[in-house]
Amino acid sequence: MHHPVKAALFLSFAFLPFAAAAQGAKPEDTEVWEPVPKVVTPGATNQAPPADAVVLFDGKDMSRFDIPAGTVWNVKDGVVTIQPSQKQQEKPIVIYTRQAFGDVQLHVEWRAPQEVRGEGQRRGNSGIFLQKRYEVQVLDSYNNRTYSNGQAASVYKQHMPLANANRKPGEWQTYDIFFTAPRFNDDGSVKSPAYVTVVQNGVLVQYHTEIQGSIAFIGKPAYQKHNLKEPLGLQDHGDAVSYRNIWVRELTLPGKEGAQ
Ligand code: MG
Repeated sequence: MHHPVKAALFLSFAFLPFAAAAQGAKPEDTEVWEPVPKVVTPGATNQAPPADAVVLFDGKDMSRFDIPAGTVWNVKDGVVTIQPSQKQQEKPIVIYTRQAFGDVQLHVEWRAPQEVRGEGQRRGNSGIFLQKRYEVQVLDSYNNRTYSNGQAASVYKQHMPLANANRKPGEWQTYDIFFTAPRFNDDGSVKSPAYVTVVQNGVLVQYHTEIQGSIAFIGKPAYQKHNLKEPLGLQDHGDAVSYRNIWVRELTLPGKEGAQ
């Protein structure tokens, strides 16, 4: 049946472009020519670093990271693997980049040990730390139940992933992480929270997720004011997780002050 209200709405929208044209507006009025987006030469594949990326691990050495005592990262055949440690299972250590970063696009490839040992949080646990405080969980979550907001690709203890996109242990997996750093007011209050989008193995697993604050193992997360740029980190949780091809692009986001 023909509905008179719907018909009226349709007519008013249908006539909008004509109404604008009648007022003398031109198509070029809404064309933006300046500024021009910078040219970024892409890598040879979607995994290879683009020309403007900072390569954090190219398979040769871990010199971009500060590695403290008590954690061992062995580089071999283009891959870096955490040396398993009972001690670090109890007390994880995070290694941080020497360089600090704000808003970023981060590419990481990781692999849980092929030999399945342990369960829950004790199976292939590592983590990507954004600005020293916000963890995107790395875990062997292939047929391995744990709390949902602690499985792979969760924002640890804050947000479960939208899907479980894990490959089998021993297979390489990719994280493409898009991170907006938080901004703080002078009094330490949050001006704008951090947001993260994560694609795991081509599957969207976090979409513009609002981060609640610094990672908390016990209790609720909360923000503490920090610099606009802080280091990125990788977690040694005592499991022999491997990494390769790690690169990051610094972003300049519209409307975000101080961004680079
Ligand atoms: Mg972890």
